[in-house]
Amino acid sequence: MRCWFHGLCTFLLLLCWRTGIAGDLLGGVGRASIVPSTPIFLSGYAVREKVSQGVAHPIQAKAMVIRADDGQQVVILTTDLLGIPHHLSERVAERLMEKHGVLRSQLMLNASHTHAAPMIWPSLSIIAEYSGDDQRLVVQYGLQLAERMVEAVDAAFSSLQPVRLSIGTDSAGFAYNRRLPSPAGFINSQNTAGPVDRQVPVLRMESLQGQVLALLFGYACHNTTLGGDNYQICGDYAGFAQSYIEEELHGSIALFMTGCAGDQNPYPRGTMALARQHGRSLADAVMRVVNRPMTPVGAEIRTAREETALALRPYPTERYLSDLTGENKYLQRRARLYMEAYNKGWDIDTYHYPVQAIRLGREFTILALAGEVVVDYSLRAKREFPDAGLFVAGYSGEVMCYIPSKRVLLEGGYEAEDSMIYYGMPGPFDERIEEQVFEAIRKVMRRVRR
Ligand SMILES: [Zn+2]
Repeated sequence: MRCWFHGLCTFLLLLCWRTGIAGDLLGGVGRASIVPSTPIFLSGYAVREKVSQGVAHPIQAKAMVIRADDGQQVVILTTDLLGIPHHLSERVAERLMEKHGVLRSQLMLNASHTHAAPMIWPSLSIIAEYSGDDQRLVVQYGLQLAERMVEAVDAAFSSLQPVRLSIGTDSAGFAYNRRLPSPAGFINSQNTAGPVDRQVPVLRMESLQGQVLALLFGYACHNTTLGGDNYQICGDYAGFAQSYIEEELHGSIALFMTGCAGDQNPYPRGTMALARQHGRSLADAVMRVVNRPMTPVGAEIRTAREETALALRPYPTERYLSDLTGENKYLQRRARLYMEAYNKGWDIDTYHYPVQAIRLGREFTILALAGEVVVDYSLRAKREFPDAGLFVAGYSGEVMCYIPSKRVLLEGGYEAEDSMIYYGMPGPFDERIEEQVFEAIRKVMRRVRR
């Protein structure tokens, strides 16, 4: 009898371990407005020469907190921003460590890459000349932004309650590869034959009474339906998608994470009406998932973070000196930055690149990569980890430049070379970049899958 009972207990324990339902989860969500209080320079396009004019869609920071009963926790903080620079990421991480004991590996930051959000100094400061007043406004905005991001997380922690998580996926069809081969090399134009990843993963958080509290969803596409002629603050398609979902599921918070969108653009593009149209089709994909049975996610949380030193190709001092005397103002501005760094003996040959993984139960893993990651990384990571329930996010932690694959680097073009100038980075990257990133990916995946 005792033996039979012991066997049953062992079986149930194993079942719980396999399905990840060993404990309970607490969850909370919060949001904060990040609309600037004054007109301000928007970022993302070099053609803009004046400050913003009005608000088409209220940009926000949104936070989701999940905590397991063994004390493991994760904070996912999404933003309607072009990118989060390193210093802002560090500032927010320090504040959340002080206030809530959030470890760096437990904090996942993501930017929607909307090109209709304020500039955050000094990201992409090379693309325009700013007056002292312009710069002051932008720096002040960045300081307030850090506080707003922390407030969103505070609100999520203060609303913790028992929750259930579930996942599902669908797809949306407006993302296309934007690297078109031409006699002049790879140009920025729609390439219907190029690689894409149109998956729309959805993580649902609901109360034990069945109320949907939050929907986290992703898509691998530049948030650039609006062009450089737009001066209205806006979350672009991702902002509209979040609003449409929140309208349909009243009382919930929708959070958008950008996937590996470095070489992906929405098509067609160029108007506010098209931004709404793409937002609608993405929201529809999310609602299709929610209206079908979803897969329950176990109550186990694992997080891991690594930094890897990515090598940049040598760019000799003589070339910086000739850039300084040349006609190209962008090359001149970059050369000024790098001659100063070089003169001070700072390291300009490597970039310390963060890679992070968050695993929820055994069903869902978010692999979060920094920078404007091209789609090859997502496709390869899903091939290497076919059973991980993987979503590969780019634009996470910090955005410092594009992250080309070896293929894109060898092909050349904007994502491989020219963009490095606008980001004020040396380079391009060394061809080993893809293998170096995947070494770090395997390390974090091993740790969350133990
Ligand atoms: Zn971009």
